[in-house]
Amino acid sequence: MMDNVTDLLAELAAHTPALPGALCRDHVDVFDSETTEAVEAAITICGNCPARAACERWSTAMDPRRLLGVVAGKHYSHDRRNPAPSAIGRTARR
Ligand code: SF4
Repeated sequence: MMDNVTDLLAELAAHTPALPGALCRDHVDVFDSETTEAVEAAITICGNCPARAACERWSTAMDPRRLLGVVAGKHYSHDRRNPAPSAIGRTARR
């Protein structure tokens, strides 16, 4: 159990990768949207991201239920009818 906010923040930071050069940081509006067009655009951005390999290693080690939206070129939905990760249209190519 967390004793205070500092412990909680330390716990969160320990599980967040650095991902230098991550392109999603400059396209938050695209990655925060769930429209088909935004998801397609996010998947394309991931395909050109220099941090993709590290992002993919991190995301595949995660419980997919903790991921939401586009991560490392894959679209994760919390739709109860489809709890597994799903790709809309296509996934980013390397
Ligand atoms: S691969 Fe996609 S989600 Fe991962 S850091 Fe790059 S832009 Fe962000």
